[in-house]
Amino acid sequence: MAQKRVIVSGMRPTGKLHLGHYFGVIKNWLKLQDKEGDKYIFIADWHALTTSYTNVEKLKENIEQLMLDWLACGLDPEKNVLFIQSKVKEHAELYLLFGMITPKSWLELNPTYKDLKYNLLKLYNLKAQFLEKVLPLVPALVEGLKLKVEDEKKFKDLLAEEISEAIVKALFEGYVEAELLKKLNIDKKLLYQIDTYGFLGYPVLQAADILIYKGNTVPVGEDQLPHIELTREIARRFNRLYGETFPEPQPLLTETPKVVGIDGRKMSKSYNNAIYLSDTAEEVEQKVRKMVTDPQRVRKTDPGRPEICPVFTLHKLFTDEQTLKMIEEDCRTARIGCVQCKKILAQNINNFLEPIRERRNYYASNKGELWDIFNQGSEQARKVASQTMEEVRKKMNLP
Ligand code: SF4
Repeated sequence: MAQKRVIVSGMRPTGKLHLGHYFGVIKNWLKLQDKEGDKYIFIADWHALTTSYTNVEKLKENIEQLMLDWLACGLDPEKNVLFIQSKVKEHAELYLLFGMITPKSWLELNPTYKDLKYNLLKLYNLKAQFLEKVLPLVPALVEGLKLKVEDEKKFKDLLAEEISEAIVKALFEGYVEAELLKKLNIDKKLLYQIDTYGFLGYPVLQAADILIYKGNTVPVGEDQLPHIELTREIARRFNRLYGETFPEPQPLLTETPKVVGIDGRKMSKSYNNAIYLSDTAEEVEQKVRKMVTDPQRVRKTDPGRPEICPVFTLHKLFTDEQTLKMIEEDCRTARIGCVQCKKILAQNINNFLEPIRERRNYYASNKGELWDIFNQGSEQARKVASQTMEEVRKKMNLP
């Protein structure tokens, strides 16, 4: 008999969603929700803490924003189990037990962790170099400033530490790979703070998130493949040690079209270039009006190059074939101006967002209903998760 498909996927609550999230993740979930199989879609709030544990003031608000965005986009609680990770404590229990059987080296080889370590080492090294140079200067400084210092050693250490910190911070930009910060979705100041046990272990938590539902299909982008491989390795190891329990999940590679932001770079909250699903029609118009275009097209009479124009790239996602063709030709022959072209784009984005806004407003004014959906989903997920845990405890001879 063919195995039932069990899809597990999640998203960290980091604020409101933008068009990049919609086309990168949500659109795929919407496609999958009408296909056969069980779908568990969760808000990964514990994962958010692995990089942002110092910054929890907005966590609950971010969770709610994500709930609103998901339902607004049309994720259907009848077709998916929509839930909040921290409300299903069994994830934490399985995470702990998986932690017992996962060799540390598997985690240290995780590319994101390796990148973090590499960047941190570069910074520590830089700091050490400065300390070496700064320390010998301190006695002269104390002398020159005629300072009365009771504990010279303590003062020397403090001064050296402060100076080197300040210098390292000033040089930070050039020394840390911007891509890593973007990938981790953190501020550069936070990089020092995430060299934690929680961050090292987050792929184990991911494995628990998937396997607790016996998930066998995980929709991911290419960059997530190493994590799925680790989940498979953990499943294999558990099965070998305690008997066949977990499936080895397969990645379902998802198509992620290029979604550019208003400055032409990849759309991202950290670049401050995003169009949010919750933006008003006026905000969308304003943002599109500000978009960069073909830099060679200075006057309306200059022919344009749609292939390098971010406005045209976005048109491809929102504009029908016929209009798209017309814009392409008219741009090349300077028959359409950028102002007009942007007006069409803003209108089309607004047409697309209008039903999303409507549903969002509905749930924003009916928060009780919104939370009920996610609380019930969490309860539903919990039933399945606790069955798996019973089986796991039995296999591991836990009382
Ligand atoms: S007409 Fe449109 S596609 Fe052509 S350069 Fe202007 S904004 Fe870009």
